[in-house]
Amino acid sequence: MNYHSHSDPKITASFGDALLASLAPDGGLWMPDEINSFSPQETAKLGAMSFGDCAAELARHFVDDRFSNEDLKAICRDAYSFPVPLVTLDGEKLDSATPEIARDYILELFHGPTLAFKDFAARFMGRAASHIMSKTADKRTILVATSGDTGGAIGDAFLGQDGINVFILFPKGGVSKIQEQQLCTMGKAGSNVKAISIDGTFDDCQQLVKDAFANQDMTERYSLMSANSINVGRVIPQSFYYFWTSLQLKAAHPGVPIVYSIPSGNLGNLTGGLIAKKMGAPIERFVIGNNTNDPFVDYLGTGEYTPRPSVPTLSNAMDIGRPNNFPRILDLYDNDYNSVSEVCWGASFSDEETERHMRRIFSASGYVMCPHTAVGHLAMEAFSEDVDLDFVKVVVGTAHPAKFADSVERIIREDVPLPKPLEKAMRKKKRFHIMSPSLQALDAYLAIHAE
Ligand SMILES: *Cc1c(COP(=O)(O)O)cnc(C)c1O
Repeated sequence: MNYHSHSDPKITASFGDALLASLAPDGGLWMPDEINSFSPQETAKLGAMSFGDCAAELARHFVDDRFSNEDLKAICRDAYSFPVPLVTLDGEKLDSATPEIARDYILELFHGPTLAFKDFAARFMGRAASHIMSKTADKRTILVATSGDTGGAIGDAFLGQDGINVFILFPKGGVSKIQEQQLCTMGKAGSNVKAISIDGTFDDCQQLVKDAFANQDMTERYSLMSANSINVGRVIPQSFYYFWTSLQLKAAHPGVPIVYSIPSGNLGNLTGGLIAKKMGAPIERFVIGNNTNDPFVDYLGTGEYTPRPSVPTLSNAMDIGRPNNFPRILDLYDNDYNSVSEVCWGASFSDEETERHMRRIFSASGYVMCPHTAVGHLAMEAFSEDVDLDFVKVVVGTAHPAKFADSVERIIREDVPLPKPLEKAMRKKKRFHIMSPSLQALDAYLAIHAE
């Protein structure tokens, strides 16, 4: 199974090489040459497995011969050591004891160590990269720009791994207090994961990482690798939970169409969902929720794609004006707007609407949503009003509300208890470096710390 550059299909690489190279030599995004489509018999078998074992079976079709079936099983069982629950707003869980409890679910993807869905991709990617590198004496430097959650997930997944130094670039004042605490307390002094507070916006951080990659001298000197969703190793694992959970839902609701709503920014999560659908996951459509940074929702409505500078919002992990994975989505649908808009439906919401919705849901049911999840929930409501369809609703819960306790507590006027991993991080001393958004400054810092 090979990968090709989305901008030049003649440029190809194996999975492992695409993972370590991050981008194709022409600057294109790596895409799988083919996506295996499973038969209904095969999907039924996969749905009956545990999530980790199902993920390993799916991964088999995306990797190269450096991974045996046993390797993949070990990687996925180890990476996915936490639950992937489908819950109702009343707190009921879908499982074999409660078939068909409702037609309205939150898929809580925030029970991993850093309490956001990015753990799913980061933990697979980290283990896959170290599996490949354990066979060589290579070193790698990971640069990761984060608007909050990616940095934590990548830092956690790569912490303590030999041969890999991780530098997390976050916008100063642009992440929640708790996210910043999490980013800046990983490992001890001198550990392989370092946080850098950039005096600028998330777009500045992302641009800095892109500039470093575009600089051949820096790329070679530091063996740079990206862990942002430009890396195909981040996107593939995000198909696993769509595939597996849609099969759990199909078993509980036979014959009823299933629709997922995804609060989106860089569109990596959506790309994972679209790949799952191509593999045969029984998913009817995807609803996309944007905050006011909504170039993709605009595209779905008009066919025109206009990237623009991002503006800060309450749902900061989605403050993206130029979504990285937009070209991947076009590539999956042969650059055909009609095919994309048949599968995807979108709506965007202001912070005021999001806040009101979080309050309304909390007072109606007691369920506390993070602001991102609330945007997805609003989009699902808007979609239900727009279509005449009887369907199973699944809103993707992307982060634990406690990660955004500073805003969530203000909005719902209630304390949000911190889960254990966050409580631990809150007690640690922060370590970080402050830097202007300049490539020279980054180069000088890496020259000292990337060894
Ligand atoms: C990263 C993130 C998103 C956006 O996901 P994309 O894959 O960038 O579209 C949404 N919500 C939360 C909490 C996130 O961390």
